[in-house]
Amino acid sequence: MTSNEDDKACEIAIIRRKVDWLLSPLRLSHSDLQRVQALMRQEMELGLGKETNARSSVCMLPTYVRATPDGTERGEFLALDLGGTNFRVLVVRVAEDSIRIASEIYIIPTSIVQGTGVADLMEQILPLGFTFSFPCQQLGLDKAVLLNWTKGFNASGCVGKDVVQLLRDAAQRKENFALNVVAVVNDTVGTMMSCGYEDPKCEIGLIVGTGTNACYMEEMRNVGTVEGNDGRMCINMEWGAFGDNGCLDHIFTTFDRLVDEKSINPGKQRFEKLISGMYLGEIVRYILLAMVEKQVLFHGKPCTKLQTKDIFKTRFLSTIEIDGLGLRKVLAILRDLDLHATFEDSVLVREVCQTVSLRAAQLCAAGMAAVVEKMRENRGLDQLVVTVGVDGTLYKMHPHFSQNLQQTLQVLAPKCTVTFLQSEDGSGKGAALVAAVACREARP
Ligand code: ADP
Ligand code: MG
Repeated sequence: MTSNEDDKACEIAIIRRKVDWLLSPLRLSHSDLQRVQALMRQEMELGLGKETNARSSVCMLPTYVRATPDGTERGEFLALDLGGTNFRVLVVRVAEDSIRIASEIYIIPTSIVQGTGVADLMEQILPLGFTFSFPCQQLGLDKAVLLNWTKGFNASGCVGKDVVQLLRDAAQRKENFALNVVAVVNDTVGTMMSCGYEDPKCEIGLIVGTGTNACYMEEMRNVGTVEGNDGRMCINMEWGAFGDNGCLDHIFTTFDRLVDEKSINPGKQRFEKLISGMYLGEIVRYILLAMVEKQVLFHGKPCTKLQTKDIFKTRFLSTIEIDGLGLRKVLAILRDLDLHATFEDSVLVREVCQTVSLRAAQLCAAGMAAVVEKMRENRGLDQLVVTVGVDGTLYKMHPHFSQNLQQTLQVLAPKCTVTFLQSEDGSGKGAALVAAVACREARP
């Protein structure tokens, strides 16, 4: 070896050491994940107990949804979907062998919902299901008090109010007509219900989009927060808040703490901030900044654009991590951010993205493992076969998220056979189905 090659080899080794030092806190071992699973289980139990509920970071909210579809539901229903990227109004037709969106009458970006009249577009007074994807204390199928906003939402005067009443009042006041709201559902519940129409084994709903959350069918006898012991009820876990009481502090890295501190809800939704679309790009951005500072990326040249919040999109992770994607594509993404990357830089950026998205999928699996194991034990089964209805762009678009999630889940919950079913428009169809099931049950 010439001394020049020696120097190069030495430099590479030093960089590797620094990279591993930065990334190792994000690499979770099997026992780390088992611990997260056990903590989730513990928080679930606390959340279900009448006396202990207030101490849990996982709210375990009763939804008053007691059954998944049985196939006899019929009719046309209106579905409103608020809480995602867009606000939508749909007419959904539930027929003997299909459930279809008959028409999508209204769709606008949620950011401009305020100040617009939507009711004028709704001519028919159909039974309405309202998908509202924020934590609510439900007092009945059509009564839901908003606990707090999440995912960057922050409209004033809503927390502590019944969102169904707010909706009815707004329709009455602005458009002067009555809405026939029969059910308010969380998007996880909508997703579970819409997939449940296709697959009766679907008793879990999962969202991995802007935020993350899950719901599942729990035995009424275990739900200390609602009267009655018969049958089951769907529980909206609000698992995005898992860890808000400090129980996950041991896994947060410097980068996670930065993301949390700079968010509009510091200290809140700590689990979600490790997993969902609103945050993964930010985690990557902070790691890249640290790598520049440690002189392992971009020759340590300061990059102004990378200082900008949210400039590194979570969809970049999806592109960068595609197998066999030429590094030139990675270079192009980085060039758009004014980053003059070398070949080595782009390899490193890819490694960072992989580390962050793998951890997200594994943590999601640890949460899901706690859910399926609880359901298996609830039912006294040696082996549980269950389906999870899933929605969310991160889950659907990322090239490895779903596979990493499923593989990890299999290892963490070997006694459960879990199938994942992607929902097609679960928010819309699900809300209509909950309304349909409610109408079916109200039939004399
Ligand atoms: P919502 O959760 O608001 O209903 P989505 O399920 O569409 O909406 O999720 C939106 C989130 O998905 C955004 O936060 C964005 O970061 C993320 N996202 C968008 N495109 C992609 C992609 N190609 N790969 C991974 N994540 C993506
Ligand atoms: Mg959504």
